[in-house]
Amino acid sequence: ELAQRMAERAVDVVKYFMKQGQMMKPGDVIDADTAELVAVEFGHTVKRVSESDVEEGLFDIQDNPDDLKPRPPVVTIMGHVDHGKTSLLDSIRKANVVSGEAGGITQHIGAYQVEQDGQTITFIDTPGHAAFTAMRARGAQATDIAILVVAADDSVMPQTIESINHAKAAGVPIIVAINKIDKPEANAQKVRTELLQHEVFVESMGGEVQDVEVSAIKGTNLDALLEAIILQAEILELKANPDRTAEGVVVEAKLDKGRGSVATVLVQAGTLKTGDIIVAGNEWGRVRALVNERGQQLKEAGPSTPVEILGLQGTPQAGDRFAVVENEAQAREISEYRQRVAREKAVARQAGQRGSLEQMMSQLQTSGLKEFPLIIKGDVQGSIEAIVAALDKLGTDEVRARVVHSGAGAITESDISLAETSEAAIIGFNVRANKQARDAAEQSGIEIRYYNIIYDLIDDIKAAMSGLLSPER
Ligand code: GDP
Repeated sequence: ELAQRMAERAVDVVKYFMKQGQMMKPGDVIDADTAELVAVEFGHTVKRVSESDVEEGLFDIQDNPDDLKPRPPVVTIMGHVDHGKTSLLDSIRKANVVSGEAGGITQHIGAYQVEQDGQTITFIDTPGHAAFTAMRARGAQATDIAILVVAADDSVMPQTIESINHAKAAGVPIIVAINKIDKPEANAQKVRTELLQHEVFVESMGGEVQDVEVSAIKGTNLDALLEAIILQAEILELKANPDRTAEGVVVEAKLDKGRGSVATVLVQAGTLKTGDIIVAGNEWGRVRALVNERGQQLKEAGPSTPVEILGLQGTPQAGDRFAVVENEAQAREISEYRQRVAREKAVARQAGQRGSLEQMMSQLQTSGLKEFPLIIKGDVQGSIEAIVAALDKLGTDEVRARVVHSGAGAITESDISLAETSEAAIIGFNVRANKQARDAAEQSGIEIRYYNIIYDLIDDIKAAMSGLLSPER
């Protein structure tokens, strides 16, 4: 490759190495210093670029505003367990399959599209905020609108509140779907009132959040929900440039026995075509086929279209961003670079370089930020309220604690991913983290601090805020 870039014959480069007493064959790897020496020796001028330049211009290409065209909204369904997220996704899928093929068999590929009044809507087909935060943790924002499902017979529950906080942290507008309205004990008004306490103000309460009463099981009012989405999408004026190389995010990926690595991607800008060479996370490949949720092969996929791609060399992770690159060499170079960065990061994490109170404070100080994000989990609501109130009093003009999320119960994986995306520390008051959460925290280097005396907790936060926190107590 070095020979090629210098427009020399590979054999001459190999000969040069031989003269230096080094046996080399094409494909062997040399370091940058050696490459520079060789290039100079062959009479070329060397310009060193930073290693991360291999990725330059890959993502977030600035489009000319004139090239932007409207694109469908991408919707995620969130809410408490058993409130009907899966049922709602299923009934919407069954009722409105794109292009009049109602009843056609759709496969689960991680996302699907429906049509309402000639408008397309893309649904992320993994309910809950796990997928949502996994994506955000990798720097991708796939969702434009969050549907918050609240069962009318159960009202606002802990994961409802979590979902609200996740959506707010991401700056994604919410539409409330008050579900199970068919049940005799359904009380939609109670849901609306309870949502007020969490700063979700629905229209009938004088706010701007749309709410729709639905029954996922009976199929009641699904049209109204889809119309609410279209209305919200119009307000957002979602646009993308379809006429350029594609970029987007991996929604799901797996290794399929027959088909090799299969990844479902959501195209966010540009148009993805078969034959394109893409980089996705640490992996790369040439797109051999594009398949939609009905198993049909497509030639291309434009903005907001979810599509399965075949042809990747390895399996990327959900939430990885992908982009089309010029050629195989560039794809290889980027994926090698990324794999190395990922390894280095893993090593750094092992050393616990992130998320500790001390480090967060010093970061805050250097960045001039004024807020100190915290997630607080406690055994009972009463003690959480006491802690939040005490933290409020600690705030000064320079710095204050911002409670990103609080709730009763053990520390879970979802808390860890929220901590990751909002760069918060986690406080456990009389509660512990479960096994999965501990593993996730270790992996991502998020610090969890445990307390059983409020005074100690407040003292530590106070100390952290003044940059005086003693290491690990
Ligand atoms: P998820 O955990 O939020 O995905 O909830 P599911 O979709 O799995 O639903 C949980 C339970 O509630 C299931 O037994 C569903 O049949 C039931 N369910 C969901 N939607 C409705 C509804 O609109 N009406 C009634 N009566 N039951 C529902």
